[in-house]
Amino acid sequence: MSQQPMSLSRLLVEKSSYLRNPNERDRIFAKGKKIEVVYVIVSKGIPLFRTEGAGDVTTIDIIPRGVAREGSTAYVSVPAILPEKIQAKLRRRMLEVLRSRFNNEVREHVKKYKKLGFSRLGEDGSWNCFIMPPSGEGETDLGMCGFCPSCNILGAVITKSENNYAKTSYGIKSRVVHDIAFATVPYEKCVVELTHNKVSEGISYTGRSLYEEPHIMPGVVFIGKLAMYDVTEREAKLVLHSLATISRMGGGETKYGSVQVIIVGLRAGDRETVSSYDIARHVIEKTGGALVEPETVVKEIVNYIRGKGFDVVIDEQKGIDSLDTVVAISDEELAKLWGEDNYFYSENVVAHIARAEKKTVGGEEEEKKEKKSKGRGKEEVQ
Ligand SMILES: [Zn+2]
Repeated sequence: MSQQPMSLSRLLVEKSSYLRNPNERDRIFAKGKKIEVVYVIVSKGIPLFRTEGAGDVTTIDIIPRGVAREGSTAYVSVPAILPEKIQAKLRRRMLEVLRSRFNNEVREHVKKYKKLGFSRLGEDGSWNCFIMPPSGEGETDLGMCGFCPSCNILGAVITKSENNYAKTSYGIKSRVVHDIAFATVPYEKCVVELTHNKVSEGISYTGRSLYEEPHIMPGVVFIGKLAMYDVTEREAKLVLHSLATISRMGGGETKYGSVQVIIVGLRAGDRETVSSYDIARHVIEKTGGALVEPETVVKEIVNYIRGKGFDVVIDEQKGIDSLDTVVAISDEELAKLWGEDNYFYSENVVAHIARAEKKTVGGEEEEKKEKKSKGRGKEEVQ
């Protein structure tokens, strides 16, 4: 029997005691309020999930309960998506959302961050935060701003090139934490080797442009789990909205990486209770590691997490193509996120940095100089 699913936004309101108040004093300090989110990534194309480069698929061995017998293969080697890949994709998607919804109201809010010593913004409130790896060892990311909702929620490094108060390097920890996303089918049953070919014009030769690549087949379900720590309602919405609107992933994603992300269920509490490993293992035990239809995997996930006290947000009787778990976030909510939740967080971060700097040798001196130069209105603009 299926139960009536609850909408994500209504659930967040209901679980508000596990969300942080946007203006809560000392909001940067963890209180251990955790929202666990179980979701699936369904392959809709022929994605490449690899770690070692071309010709590789990331796999992890899972041992289902009760199958280990002497002389038999006890483990199932399933493809997996590593947490850093999911986090990187979530960040890119979140930045897309923030850029696409950037308007004059947000621009006015962005101007205020200058007062907090942040430098990667224009005098007119223009902003762009982007992922650009450091060019040399010991350097920090060249594009991240250190103050936008993506930096404050998913983590960033603040050095003197991001904030005038920072003399050393400070890390903002991610408040979104991830599990590995596991497939529930062994490698042999869900990977297809395809030959890619680049043919020249004029004279036909293939040479080194002929290569084989292992792809994940369409319909394979990866079980993922993330937890949000100490987020506000608007921050939670931005995370869930970004997650559910991911539609491509993996190597060569423009060609192969079509995926669907479905949020299955959510649980609020003061600790994390399940891992994607537990769920994947349960599904493998139920299906015997067979390549079954994605709906069957989703149903098994629902059975498992419902038993663990999760609120399920989908109707598991429906086909996956009709499941849409995108939680809406309005322009008004986004503007408030920039102007209140996130601004207050940055204020806390900068206050903390200032406290730390005073403790360092010469910190007091530096602070006086800082005040003087601020008095002259001399600020870096980038
Ligand atoms: Zn940023």
